[in-house]
Amino acid sequence: MRIVVPSVIVLVGPSGSGKSTWARRHFAASEIVSSDRLRAAVGLDEYDQRASPDAFAVLNDIVRRRIGRKLTTVIDTLGMNAADRATWITLANAAGLPTYAVTFSTEPKVCRARNKQRSRPVPAKALTAQIDKFAETSGELTTEGYAAVIEASDEVRVVNRAMAGAAEARDRQRASPLRLDFGLQLASFNFPGSPQTTAEHLVEIAQAAEEVGFSSLWVMDHFMQIPQVGPEWWDMPEAYTTLAYLAAATRRIKLGTLVTGVGYRNPALLGKMIATLDVLSGGRAIAGLGAGWFERETVGYGYGVPTTKERLDRLEDMLQMLPLLWGPGAPSFEGKTFSVPEAMCYPRPLQDHIPILVGGGGEKRTLRLVAQYADAANFFGDADAVRHKIAVLHEHCAAVGRDPADIAITHLAPALMATDQSDLEARVAAIKPNNVSAAVFGATVNAGAIDDHIGRFHTLGEAGVETAIVSLVGVPAASDVWRLAPIVDAFS
Ligand code: GDP
Ligand code: MG
Repeated sequence: MRIVVPSVIVLVGPSGSGKSTWARRHFAASEIVSSDRLRAAVGLDEYDQRASPDAFAVLNDIVRRRIGRKLTTVIDTLGMNAADRATWITLANAAGLPTYAVTFSTEPKVCRARNKQRSRPVPAKALTAQIDKFAETSGELTTEGYAAVIEASDEVRVVNRAMAGAAEARDRQRASPLRLDFGLQLASFNFPGSPQTTAEHLVEIAQAAEEVGFSSLWVMDHFMQIPQVGPEWWDMPEAYTTLAYLAAATRRIKLGTLVTGVGYRNPALLGKMIATLDVLSGGRAIAGLGAGWFERETVGYGYGVPTTKERLDRLEDMLQMLPLLWGPGAPSFEGKTFSVPEAMCYPRPLQDHIPILVGGGGEKRTLRLVAQYADAANFFGDADAVRHKIAVLHEHCAAVGRDPADIAITHLAPALMATDQSDLEARVAAIKPNNVSAAVFGATVNAGAIDDHIGRFHTLGEAGVETAIVSLVGVPAASDVWRLAPIVDAFS
């Protein structure tokens, strides 16, 4: 059985049937909301039945807030109150999370024997009532709207949505292979021995990417590490300096940022930097642009916090100005947010047209700007999310008279690659944070074996992705890049 996360998992079974043990085996303590633990928190101890109303009030509050954050939540109670279950399902549906019921049909005599061994057994009559109620409840579950009702003895695997149909999609890739280009994004730079070793690690990784057949190499354009990857004091080399260095160490791979905040440099200077990268790399630059979002960094570096409108206006100005700057002569540009009296850039780029990729899926304005000006759009998420963004982009294309075929679709996602299940578990354990279970962390970072990834990329290709950009999870090494070779091959 597959449990897709993030989701809500409702345990249902009498005392001693093994609920808390199952929860601990599959999930981290922070993902489990337990009525016993909350009885101890608001009452005398786990057995303080008089504290039950308060414990359940707190439990329902925690469940509601966690679901609101789309966090995987395992609800460890007897699970036999139909009204509570209905509340949880309604909340989960509203948040777009699937709900699973896990039933514990442990033999009554086993529950009774385990109960007797407890330091504070449930009274025998109460346990009998729970066992009777469980028999009744089991029948009700099938109609309550769960994504699946799972028996606790079933083998379960926790996966994210992108991996849920991977096995079938892998077969489809074998039967009728799709072509996909691959990009490699570097997001984490705390190499062993950094910063003394940073340059050599970067070269090794870039050269491995080129040999494996990646068509593009991307770095983030940030001044501090972003919270999605690590604490802000982690290494974050400047993007264009890094790309220029990697240009000298590679021959074929395209180079770009995913993506540059348009407010981070004087606009004409940014255009000049990208043009120079194109010249020095032999025509391999891609201009990745975005509105910018990371406040800590813009405040910290004295850029302030422009409004969304200001940032998008500047993105639009940039999209109009860059082709002028990269073209012949010295036209003057007057935008809403900046002007360039002499948009002059020599040497001009080697490419007739440096491709411009816009990052960001804002449906009203960003995708409109993509339809008007860009050569590529980058999306996140699973195949359904990508399909939706592409549909919106195509509406904008129709509205502005742009041929959607002229806009390449790229997709960025983390990937943690392993050769088999035990390798997978070891890799996940090595880098997962303490307060998240291996299962949920693995799902978040797309941890999987080669076939899982082939299936996942196939579904993305079916949805319209043309370039899959892989962000390696953890501090990358050339060996991580080589491990992706069978995937790149499968789509070549
Ligand atoms: P709960 O009351 O449903 O939460 O049950 P627990 O998970 O606390 O389990 C009750 C007792 O049964 C504990 O002593 C566990 O160690 C034991 N137990 C739980 N699951 C299993 C199992 O799958 N096999 C065995 N042998 N014991 C189990
Ligand atoms: Mg328990």
